[in-house]
Amino acid sequence: MVKELRKKGVTFYLCEVCGFAYKEKEWAEKCQQWCEQHQSCNLEIIQHAVPLEE
Ligand SMILES: [Zn+2]
Repeated sequence: MVKELRKKGVTFYLCEVCGFAYKEKEWAEKCQQWCEQHQSCNLEIIQHAVPLEE
């Protein structure tokens, strides 16, 4: 399961393996699936990641 995070009314979805955040749950799920299977990041997936401002 991907992690949901709410910031300023926007929901982000986090890959629990690598910690990248996505605005679309679909991408977070793809990322997590990839990370669990390959133990590395897929550039095509993480280019959809969004930076999380602290
Ligand atoms: Zn990931």
